[in-house]
Amino acid sequence: MSSDPARKTRGLMLMIVAPSGVGKTSLTRRLVADHSDLHLSISATTRQPRPGEHEGRDYHFVSPEDFDGMLQDDAFLEWAEVYGNRYGSPRAPIMEALARGESALFDIDYQGAMKIHAQAPDDAVLVYILPPSLAEMSRRLLARSQDSEEVIRERISRAKDELSLWKTFDYVVLNDDFDGAYSELAHIYHAERLRASRNLWLEPFVDELLEESLPEL
Ligand code: 5GP
Repeated sequence: MSSDPARKTRGLMLMIVAPSGVGKTSLTRRLVADHSDLHLSISATTRQPRPGEHEGRDYHFVSPEDFDGMLQDDAFLEWAEVYGNRYGSPRAPIMEALARGESALFDIDYQGAMKIHAQAPDDAVLVYILPPSLAEMSRRLLARSQDSEEVIRERISRAKDELSLWKTFDYVVLNDDFDGAYSELAHIYHAERLRASRNLWLEPFVDELLEESLPEL
């Protein structure tokens, strides 16, 4: 990626959506680790931190009153209530990063991704990660043994409803092989960074080209 400061660019919002058990966390962690210009969007939440979670790394942990204040200030790109707690994606740090030419990765659900896309269609890029099969997905969910069989059945049935929405995404990556899927994801990010509309330096550069006098032949 060009990091020439004279080449002013606008970053993008990369929204990665996948059912649980498809390997999304490993893919997104590696993408952020490999790209210094890509940052994970840290949501604000009213829920209590779990053991091992850190303020500012996993979430911004805020009181319900502070969350209300942020809502009044229109401080969120989108927000949702999940199991009695509220979660929101703060707008200001993302917009500042984009203006600096940096990008934000959202580890977010389908509804949240679509809300952000509706607000900022030129900045948002939507990627869906597909499992190779539902059997493989349930095998991965069982192996990580975080959920009961009932929760796993519910996750799979929810995934089936969501799969039919694949055409509403800009890109779909099949995660049947981690390295292959990662390579596709990285290519998507690189190509989107090169999109002409994000390369703000192009317009003045081309204007200068057009003003150049013809060289003598
Ligand atoms: P957890 O409390 O387990 O960290 O997250 C619960 C749910 O909230 C997850 O499904 C997670 O994706 C979702 N979530 C976390 N941050 C946000 C956010 O900023 N916006 C939305 N819409 N959902 C979020």
